[in-house]
Amino acid sequence: MQRVLNFSPGPATLPEEVLIRAQKEMLDCNNSGMSVMEMSHRSKAFEGILAKAQADLRAIMGIPDNYKILFLQGGAWTQFSMVPLNLFKTGKADYIVTGEWAKKASIEAKKYGEVNVVASSESSNFTFIPEIPKDKLNPNADYFHYTHNNTIFGTRFTYIPETGKVPLVCDMSSSILSEEVDVSRFGLIYAGAQKNMGPAGVTVIIIRDDMIGYAKDITPTMLNYKTHADNNSLFNTPPCYSIYICGLVYEWIKNRGGVKAMEKENNAKADLLYGFLDNSSLFKGTAQKKDRSLMNVTFVLPNEDLNKKFVAEAEAAGLSNLKGHRSVGGMRASIYNAMTLKGVEKLVDFMQKFEKNNK
Ligand SMILES: *Cc1c(COP(=O)(O)O)cnc(C)c1O
Repeated sequence: MQRVLNFSPGPATLPEEVLIRAQKEMLDCNNSGMSVMEMSHRSKAFEGILAKAQADLRAIMGIPDNYKILFLQGGAWTQFSMVPLNLFKTGKADYIVTGEWAKKASIEAKKYGEVNVVASSESSNFTFIPEIPKDKLNPNADYFHYTHNNTIFGTRFTYIPETGKVPLVCDMSSSILSEEVDVSRFGLIYAGAQKNMGPAGVTVIIIRDDMIGYAKDITPTMLNYKTHADNNSLFNTPPCYSIYICGLVYEWIKNRGGVKAMEKENNAKADLLYGFLDNSSLFKGTAQKKDRSLMNVTFVLPNEDLNKKFVAEAEAAGLSNLKGHRSVGGMRASIYNAMTLKGVEKLVDFMQKFEKNNK
């Protein structure tokens, strides 16, 4: 068996310790005599798994008691419509468009109400996070939506926007648990698990109690937060196995010193890689320095032939999935929590050698 260093943007690398534990518990989880995949979601055994996943996530993120944690299906994409369906009261919301996912979220919301795009960096291919013009904010908006980390373009918000009494809604799909966040500042946080938290198939929603219960009448039962909040994510069959793996990841983070320790390691990883890029005469980072992502590092070589050569040689050397998104080109190294500092050191070593050989 040979595992590669997997720099995929998602589904992404998982902690090896978590995979080994899941392997150990595959046939008999917690003396239940069965795999989690074979358990009734109404069983004591699964209820225990769900309760522990929720408690551990609450502990490592510092989620206050007046927030519900929901484990839903349909990916982050489904949240692009669940958010407006559930949160529109006056039918007006503010969005900031900082990348492809933020744009998609804003377009989806337009089906249900009025979307005010307060700023966008699309005209410069999303290489930075634009300022939020205070005079563009609607003080009576039902919510303000932003994407914390722009997975495709390698940028991130380094601060929490100030929106007064307008609730903040945030897509944290590619950055949840990567750095400490004051959850009490938010009305709603959502994140697909498959980037930094677990396998595909589950989306985590952290929602403040007073945000629940305002869905439009036509809202499908399955797309109403109240349905899932009232039933502790057990209204219908939840993605049991994905929830179980997320739970193992939360425990792994807890045992390693929590999100604070993750943030420290993520900063060290990003500093190493960006430090190399900044001093390289061959490689070049594509995101503006002030807004650089800790999770997705985007960079290019001087021409397309070299980009292709780099990706192919890296793949052959066991450094996998470094090809950038087609809208940016070049390369993208996704260095989520489960990618070790050692892994990033190997990538930088490889880049150094490539630079020497291709000058
Ligand atoms: C990947 C991603 C999405 C889409 O997630 P799905 O689970 O595939 O629907 C949305 N937002 C961000 C920031 C992402 O990185």
